[in-house]
Formats: sequence, C-alpha cells, structure tokens
Amino acid sequence: MFSAYQQTIAKAVHCSSVGLHTGATVTLHLEPASVFSGIRFKRMDIDGGRSERSTVEASYDLVTDTMLGTTIENEHGVGVATVEHLMAALWGMGIDNVLVRVDGPEVPIMDGSSADFIRLIEQAGVIAQDAPRRMIVIDEMIEVTDGQSVAILKPYDGFRLDIDIEFKHDAIARQSASYDFADVTFKEAISEARTCGFAADVAKLQAAGLARGGSLDNAIVIDDDGVMNDGGLRFDDEFVRHKALDCMGDYFLAGMRLWGHAVTSKPGHCINNKLIRALFNKPSAWHIADGTDLGFGTPAVAAYGSRAGRRVVPEVLMTPAKD
Ligand SMILES: [Zn+2]
Repeated sequence: MFSAYQQTIAKAVHCSSVGLHTGATVTLHLEPASVFSGIRFKRMDIDGGRSERSTVEASYDLVTDTMLGTTIENEHGVGVATVEHLMAALWGMGIDNVLVRVDGPEVPIMDGSSADFIRLIEQAGVIAQDAPRRMIVIDEMIEVTDGQSVAILKPYDGFRLDIDIEFKHDAIARQSASYDFADVTFKEAISEARTCGFAADVAKLQAAGLARGGSLDNAIVIDDDGVMNDGGLRFDDEFVRHKALDCMGDYFLAGMRLWGHAVTSKPGHCINNKLIRALFNKPSAWHIADGTDLGFGTPAVAAYGSRAGRRVVPEVLMTPAKD
C-alpha cells in the first residue's frame, strides 16, 4: 500500500471462473501497464479488444449500476460488471497500473472474495516504476448519506477504515471493525472474506434471470437456519470484512489511493460511489500529493519475488515514516 512509487505487475497472468451475472465462464488476463496509465479494462469480445469502444477506464464517474456489484461503462455503452473485488485486490497489493482483459461483460467471481486475485498478483510479482505514486490527501470532512447508510472521509495521516453493518438476521446482526493499514494488511485482514446472500433473495434473483452464476461456490448463502456453506465461515465477522473489501474496491475507482480516514455505516456500492463523487465535487476537500512527499519509508527486501535489476517494493513490509 505505502509505496512512494507507482507499481505494476512483472508479467502477464490469467484466471477464469463463472461470472456472477451471466453464469458463463469468463477469463481474465492481467498485463503490466506503463506509468500513469492506471487500471484499464479491455473487453476482448468487443472488436477483438482493438478499438476504443472496447476500453473501459476504472473510474468512479463511469459507474452506471450498483445493484449486484459495481458496473462501469464507457461512453459507447460497453461495460464491465463486478469490478470491485479485483479493484480491492489491486489496491491491497499496491498496483497502480495494469491492463485487465476480459472476454465477457464481467469480471469472474472466483470464490466471491479477493483471494484468487491476490494469488494471481503474487504469481505475477509486483514491480516499482519510475514515477512517484500520486495520492488523494483528504483536507476537509466529506459526508454523504443514502437512506440508513452513512459514509465519511476526513483528514488522517495514513489510511484507516471504520465500518459497521447491521442485518436483521442472527447470522450477521451487528458487526463493526476498524482497519488502520499501517498496522494490518489487506491480504491478511480482508482479502479472503466472501460476499454473502440470503437464500430467498438468490432464488428471487435467479427466477428473474439475474445472478445466474451465484452459488455456494462463490458466496456465503444464509437461510433461516444460518450459514448453508459446508465449512461455515472463514472469519467470525466475515460479513463486515467483506463489506470493507467492497469499500476498498469502490474507493479505488477514485483512480488513486486515498490518504485519510473513512468512516462508514451500512455501506453498499451505491453510497461508496456517492462518497467518491462528493469528494471530487468539492475541490477544497482534497489535494493530490506524490507518495515521495508523504514520507513513505524506503523499500525493504522483496516480499513479492525479487527480480535482478528491478526494484521490488514489498508493500507488506512498509510503513509510512512518522514524524
Ligand atoms: Zn463484494
């Protein structure tokens, strides 16, 4: 997370699984990308991925749907759905620039968490690039609400997320968590937490032709008796951890990492996007700083596979320098 320099992956990698929406198999390729190119998606099934029409930038202002996940769509109406778990993994692994090729309208759902994307990025290796990373430093408090949901950003020397959720079901009830990413890593604390769904809702969605790929293989499913999955939960508070995962993925659609303190109650993809839009609508509330100006530490020894002749920045070993 706290690299002073932009990072990409060292080599191309790929994975596949069903897509949540269509239920069809989708293959995803991650490829290294140049500095300042950001996270870009290419739909290989549109013009063979060669036209501008096939490209969708990972940007908060292209979010068009937040019902079953976060969908981004370009001006030609070409979209990519369920980007948030991949975006969260890219955020957590410190990737700034990458080309994401998909051969269908959505990112594969994998196991419903970010774990497989983390493994994929580790398999590729992470390398630092010759340009400072730019971050959005929060200068003033921003607050948005959406029904019962609240989301706040405020100044903080680091990145921290305080989150709470509440569902009228005993399996979840109320859960809260606080993550200061100087102390915990996304990979260990959050990446393996799966999305969840209620059996009755899943049945309704599938009857309407939606969430056709949703199953016990890629979600925690809850019925009146509790968690239906063999093996139960991965964490006692897996639900709030997954909501934190979604926040990180949705916030990273800002195009840069945030440097501040996020506080959110009953978050969802809609309010996550609303928060980032509100931030950009208030230029006095933030400024852009280089990672090199934020006092990040010196890269330590390789955690992601050292390669001769390249600087490898191990995010997990780095903490920002304090005064
Ligand atoms: Zn999710």
